[in-house]
Formats: sequence, structure tokens, C-alpha cells
Amino acid sequence: TKLNVALIFGGKSGEHEVSLLSTASIYKHIDKNKYNVFTIGITKDGKWMYYEGSEENIKNGEWVNLANKNVEINLIPSGSREVGIRFEDGRVENIDVLFPVLHGPYGEDGTIQGLFEISQVPYVGCGVLASSVGMDKLVCKKVFSQIGLPQVEYTYTNKWEFDNNTNQELDNIENKLKYPIFVKPANMGSSVGISKTTNREELLDGINEALKYDSRIVLEQGINAREIEVAVLGNYDVKASIAGEIKPAKDFYDYEDKYLDGASTYDIPAKIDQNTMSDIRRMAIEAFKGIDGKGLSRVDFFIDKDSGEVFINEINTLPGFTNISMYPKMWEKTGLNYEDIIDNLIKLALDSKK
Ligand code: ATP
Ligand code: MG
Ligand code: MG
Ligand code: MG
Repeated sequence: TKLNVALIFGGKSGEHEVSLLSTASIYKHIDKNKYNVFTIGITKDGKWMYYEGSEENIKNGEWVNLANKNVEINLIPSGSREVGIRFEDGRVENIDVLFPVLHGPYGEDGTIQGLFEISQVPYVGCGVLASSVGMDKLVCKKVFSQIGLPQVEYTYTNKWEFDNNTNQELDNIENKLKYPIFVKPANMGSSVGISKTTNREELLDGINEALKYDSRIVLEQGINAREIEVAVLGNYDVKASIAGEIKPAKDFYDYEDKYLDGASTYDIPAKIDQNTMSDIRRMAIEAFKGIDGKGLSRVDFFIDKDSGEVFINEINTLPGFTNISMYPKMWEKTGLNYEDIIDNLIKLALDSKK
């Protein structure tokens, strides 16, 4: 019998558009002979709507206008209502596996995973803890340093401190770090809200920009970085792909470069020596296990071009799945094609409930 798989996409996040691209790509590749695929969109205001239609209309955002508002999605076991999708004719399709194809806040940060836990339906990817730790760059840094993973120097500020003691906060940051300084919202992805700053004025602007997305801000020592990524897959028996290298077309790997012009290039495998390759793959698994990762993640590293040092940058528990994304590409070069990845993720989701 075919499994009912619900792809959840869109979302109330600065990465909404990226999710549409990831979803279109997964929808195209998922084996419809094996799975009944249901697509559930979440608007930018956080409203859930059932949409049945083409991957093209998911990609271009038209699905919002085409969604069937009479279909109900129920994930909370309550009264006589079954968990599942209720169609206009009263038929209810249960959901065997929930597949969040969401990035950033409300999708990758443990909040929706909490809802999935309550629904008691198996779901793809990390649970509540790993998702929330992975999404929060500040807490994640503490976990990584506790397990001995090397990281660049950093400090932090928050909206309250910054608004009340702006100059003192800027002084503290400048005392701790040298320019260039990267400014990042603690909870976000796809480089949304991130700036590379080279003087105090830019630092001030960068912090104000990042504060649009989160009230907690990370400041990092900017380095002259090679960018190495590893795809991780598994629950307990965790596998790491061969590492790849992204070569951004611009000053850094920003939103535009990631999704709009795709001008960056990449090497898979990354052109690094065998020891560095195996160290990075080992650290990727340590990072994943360190946050209690399940299912999948993409773990990102820097190699300092000046000193040769390796640093872990971050873990993305729901990495981009667009047709130009590194996660599927790195697995492909390691021997798993796109369809295999999806099968594995669904199987891991079902296994983790046993
Ligand atoms: P993702 O889309 O992978 O979730 P993100 O929004 O979480 O990304 P980061 O990976 O932390 O953001 O940073 C985005 C990019 O900014 C990096 O890929 C890199 O190009 C650049 N960058 C970030 N931090 C540094 C740093 N400390 N030194 C040099 N470059 C950096
Ligand atoms: Mg990230
Ligand atoms: Mg991300
Ligand atoms: Mg990143």
C-alpha cells in the first residue's frame, strides 16, 4: 500500500520563497508510485491551506490564490475529529508521514516539530530540541564549543541592550572583534538579515538590519573563508556525505547568490586534503549528534584562507532542497540520488517512532 506523505511548505518566515523552491523540487522528484503526495501550504501570515496542483504554481507563489479553502487540515487529536486532511465530500485522508519543507523560523526551529509531536504523526527530520538549538546561532555556538568544535570568535547583543546603550555596545563589539565583522540575527537562515561590516557606521546599520528579524544578534569575527559543507543523514547510524565547497560569486554567500542569480560555483568533492576531508566529515557527525539531530542536516564549515584553520560555521536542520542546493548534490556524488534521499528520509521518519 502507498504511504500518505504530506509536504508542508511556505511558512511564516523570511525564507518562505526558498521553501517554495525546495518544495517544487521535492514534489518533482518524490516517487508518486510509492507515495500519495499531499501538499499543504502555509501563507506568510501563517495560515494553513490545502493546495493540489502543479509544482510551477508552488514555485511562483500562485498556489495561495488556487488553494482549496474548504479542505480542513487537522493535526490535533480532539473530540471525534481524526488527524488528517478532510476533503469537501467528508472523506478524511490520514497522514502517514509529515514532511516539513520549511526553512527558518516556524519551520526549522522546533515550533512546528512540537505540533507534529502533539499530532503523533511521524515526521521527517530533526525533533524539537535539535531544531531549536540548530536554528539559534547563539545557543548552538555554546553546544558546539562544549563538544570541542572549533569556531570563530564571536559576541552578541540584543535589542534592549542595543537600543539603550548603543555606543557602549558598539564599543564592546569593537573591543572584542576586528573588522570585518559579520552581523547575524540569531534565528534565521539563507543569509537573510546578515551583513559584513567594515566600520562602525556599517556595524550600526547591520545591527539595525538584523534586528528586523530577531531581537538577539550574533557578531562574528569575519575571516577570509573557504566554505565547506557536508550533508548528514541518519537517526542513530549517522552518515556524512563527501564534503563540497561553495565558491560564492560575491563578497560573501548572500541571499541573491544562493537563490536568485546562482552565480556561485562549487566543487564536490571539495579540493581539500584527505585528512581535512575526514576531520570535517567526522565533525559534521559530532555536531549533528551533539544537538540530538535526527534525519538530516547540512553542516557548514569555514577554512581560513590565511591560517588554514578549520571552523564549524553552523548546522542547518532543514537545508535547502532546491534543484541547485548542495544537500542533494553532495549525496548524489556520494552515491545517493534524489529519490534515494527522499526514500531514506521517509523511512527514518517512520523508524524514529519505533
Ligand atoms: P544558511 O542559508 O546556510 O542557513 P545562514 O543565513 O544561516 O545561512 P551563515 O551561514 O551563518 O548564514 O552566513 C551566511 C554566509 O555569510 C556564509 O555562507 C559566508 O559566506 C558568510 N559568513 C558568515 N559568517 C562569516 C564569518 N564569520 N567570516 C566570513 N564569512 C562569513
Ligand atoms: Mg543557517
Ligand atoms: Mg539555513
Ligand atoms: Mg549558512
